[in-house]
Amino acid sequence: MINIPELDQCVHCGLCLNQCPTYRVLQLEPESPRGRIHLVRAVTEGRIEANERFAEHIHLCLMCRACESACPSGVRYGRIAEAARAVVGPPGSPLARALEGFVFTRLLPSPLMLRAVARLLRLYQRSGLQSMSRAFLPARLYEMTAMLPPLPDRFFTPQDEPLPARGERRAHVAMLGGCVMSLLFADINEATVRVLRRNGCDVLIPKAQGCCGALNIHNGETTMAKVMARRNIDAFLDCGAEAVIVNAAGCGAAMKEYGHLLRDDPVYAEKAARFARLVKDASEFLAALGPVAPRGRIEMTVTYQDPCHLAHGQRVRAQPRALLTAVPGLRLIEMEGSDRCCGSAGIYNLTHPEMSQELLREKMVSIATTSAEAVVAPNPGCMLQLGYGASRYGPPLPVFHLMELLDRAYGGEAPPSI
Ligand code: SF4
Ligand code: SF4
Repeated sequence: MINIPELDQCVHCGLCLNQCPTYRVLQLEPESPRGRIHLVRAVTEGRIEANERFAEHIHLCLMCRACESACPSGVRYGRIAEAARAVVGPPGSPLARALEGFVFTRLLPSPLMLRAVARLLRLYQRSGLQSMSRAFLPARLYEMTAMLPPLPDRFFTPQDEPLPARGERRAHVAMLGGCVMSLLFADINEATVRVLRRNGCDVLIPKAQGCCGALNIHNGETTMAKVMARRNIDAFLDCGAEAVIVNAAGCGAAMKEYGHLLRDDPVYAEKAARFARLVKDASEFLAALGPVAPRGRIEMTVTYQDPCHLAHGQRVRAQPRALLTAVPGLRLIEMEGSDRCCGSAGIYNLTHPEMSQELLREKMVSIATTSAEAVVAPNPGCMLQLGYGASRYGPPLPVFHLMELLDRAYGGEAPPSI
């Protein structure tokens, strides 16, 4: 059945166990990386079936990849989990799976459909229906809608004309708009473009791009994920950019793995590997370029949440901190377990609300002990989850994306016409 070479690298030492959020909460071996690796191996060897119980263990994993950071043998657990999920399919009841199937294979690949849904949500938020819906929506569904920030007046729209560098030209880059970032956080995308331009980058945002497919891959849907990956490779690879900039950690981690996703594709394998080398998180790219020193002061004490797919998935930890502490007036206080998952994990907070809320409560306690005035988390899922945590459990702090604060320190400006 499934052939997963990474399974052979595990020496069962158990050093990953205490870094695993689900093991820390439940203290059960099958809910640990080592336990899950045992289970996947047993399935590949035909000793157990890939049944419902197996699927539950595989889906209770957050795909946070903290076990990869802890593992001395270099086991790429994320690849093992993705292969297992491709066998068991998405989580939940048959109805939930049908809905997830629609989202993964119809909604996410279609920028037009995504925009139409976002417009409906905006109408729902602004019509007053949202406040009334508490009375008739199931509690979980209501909470889902309550987690969303107010949708912006206009969404972030790609354009094929490059936006020129401010000052001396130092690089020519392309940028992923991202589906969630473009619709829910258009202002942060615009801030990211301004920060890049301030740092001497011509910025191209190719129109032909689409959703990166990260949610599909993490939930075991690889057929459409490959279509989405090929589309992005075609959109970005030959546009002449020196780097493809991403400001959402989950998207960046997935795009850096396109080479693995398309490794057996005779036409795209080489292109995917080349594309993956171009992908850079915005902080990673700026730190390597040598950022222009921001002049504006931000008198604020912040704490930094490492997005799992940035810290564990891309090993980018120092760069965002260096950029933050370069802002005059801004002070960084580390929280305990800053690289522990906040419980967001794609759609995990919807599919596994109890575990997700347990991890969020723990995270908010860590944040509270820092006495910071704000939280910085450069990933949309973490921002939504921590914003929800701040309103539900406290402390009631604002949550910023790193690029928002950098943009402010560079002086910001009226949004460019993008
Ligand atoms: S995944 Fe790595 S850390 Fe965990 S048991 Fe296996 S070898 Fe040890
Ligand atoms: S990815 Fe995260 S939740 Fe899953 S096994 Fe590894 S540490 Fe545990």
